Amino acid sequence: MSACPSAVETPALLPVLGSDVTVPLVTGGEVTYAALDYAASAPALRRVWDDVAAYAPYYGSVHRGAGYLSQLSTDLFESSRKEVAAFLGCREDDQVVFTRSTTDSLNLLAAALPTGTEVFVFETEHHASLLPWERREDTRATYLSAPRSPREAVETLEKALAGRDGGGPALVCVTGASNVTGELWPVRELAGAAHAHGARIVLDAAQLAPHHPVDIAEADVDWVAFSGHKLYAPFGAGVLAGRADWLREASPYLAGGGASRKVARRDDGGVDVEWHTTAARHEAGSPNVIGVYAIASACKALSEAGFDGLVARERQLIAKVREGLAEVPEVRLLSLFGDDAPRVGVLSFVVDGWNSSHFAAALSAEYGIGVRDGLFCAHPLLRTLLDSEPDEPGECGAPEAAPGERALNAIRVSFGAGTPDEHVERFVRAVKELVRDGARWDYRTEDGRCVPVS
Ligand code: PLP
Repeated sequence: MSACPSAVETPALLPVLGSDVTVPLVTGGEVTYAALDYAASAPALRRVWDDVAAYAPYYGSVHRGAGYLSQLSTDLFESSRKEVAAFLGCREDDQVVFTRSTTDSLNLLAAALPTGTEVFVFETEHHASLLPWERREDTRATYLSAPRSPREAVETLEKALAGRDGGGPALVCVTGASNVTGELWPVRELAGAAHAHGARIVLDAAQLAPHHPVDIAEADVDWVAFSGHKLYAPFGAGVLAGRADWLREASPYLAGGGASRKVARRDDGGVDVEWHTTAARHEAGSPNVIGVYAIASACKALSEAGFDGLVARERQLIAKVREGLAEVPEVRLLSLFGDDAPRVGVLSFVVDGWNSSHFAAALSAEYGIGVRDGLFCAHPLLRTLLDSEPDEPGECGAPEAAPGERALNAIRVSFGAGTPDEHVERFVRAVKELVRDGARWDYRTEDGRCVPVS
């Protein structure tokens, strides 16, 4: 008789490139590299790499050639669009536009807003979500203060939307998971608030999509944006998916071939252009078919692996990191919504008496661990979390803040579907040893960064 299967099978790790890469240590010898900076860019899934390699000999122009390989590449490009739409649970009339990245997707949406649109965005957003909305004279941005709980986020948004004048177009932009704290935002509730007040909502899923299923219809959001390089598909493509109307009515993001259906000289010497009304309208130029196919391959691989198992395993890694860091009183985890708030595998912290750049440099040089330090392109959020004026890191070696004082920068550790337990275990051990014994090497500042003295 077979044993009763568990409700959620813990999956094996998803194989990624680079898992056997070794790096030198300043203290001597080599060690396998522990890539713990997934929130910046995740390694490519082996499956994505294999799919891309299998396609590469058949590479050809997209939407531009009569040859066999051009037709094959065009089919691949368009079937990738369908794969991404299925991954995101797109509604029938949604469009999937391929871009370069989340930043590009949100700038495209900002450029496509109807005249007079008022945009509401929390000041805690990544700069990619924070900054695109103030670049036009005919749209307006309102920045909302940092909420200290998911409920406060919804209340803050409701209050702001209730206070807006007139019934003109409005857009809310919100992140699904913070790139600093990893905390999950109450997307569905925020979408409900937005729609109740006649506003639309775009979800910045750059950090959410690699860790959690994103269903555009179920989340009830109007658009979703994400980047391939954070979704294990680092080939330079991104996605903006959602409502077609504003995109169809807007000027093409770039003017050029592919976006135009018909171009003719006018009698007065100018040109008349008929633009596409499909996603092609905003995809002028030869598209990045390899990047797009890589995203589709990653979507397929994650769906087939199953998010239940991926989330369950990631929770185990998060618990390991949190429990380990909790044993070091000098470490303070950064959080908006409280330490126990649900989150993805992204955690930021400061270490009393340490310069964050120095700490990150020692993790790399002495333990072969790659993390990120700094302000993570979210300066206003860091200002709130650190309760200080974020700045360039201080002189290496000297703590940027004395013990008990406020730090000016932070350290971020992040991981995902390709992270073995050993990487987070090594990270926790390294933090404990560095805090207890100090760095074993000397470091100096070079171009504003800490580097080991050679
Ligand atoms: N949004 C969030 C939450 C992010 O974490 C990032 C990148 O770190 C971005 C947007 C921008 O992504 P990209 O650099 O791929 O455009």
